[in-house]
Amino acid sequence: MESTTPQDAYQDGNMLAGPLSEIFLAEMTRTVGTCAGCRTSHMLAQLRVYGHAPGFVARCPACGIVNMRLVRGPTDVWLDMTGTLNLRIPMREA
Ligand SMILES: [Zn+2]
Repeated sequence: MESTTPQDAYQDGNMLAGPLSEIFLAEMTRTVGTCAGCRTSHMLAQLRVYGHAPGFVARCPACGIVNMRLVRGPTDVWLDMTGTLNLRIPMREA
């Protein structure tokens, strides 16, 4: 018989829907990202965005690696953040 500890308890990903929808309504241009390549932090507005691909490709202003890819299809959006370690998103006080 398996036992569960409080550390094993989890909820499914549906619980993230509320917090994520709040984040993606935030003022994103003041968001600060950390590059996975060179570890520098920069505001989203400082990324170098190229739009001649099927979507948008955003490159680090310091080292040039791809930080983000965004493709908008008719019914879905693909967002690849492989080149970004983290985002710090300014929010209004809760
Ligand atoms: Zn970089």
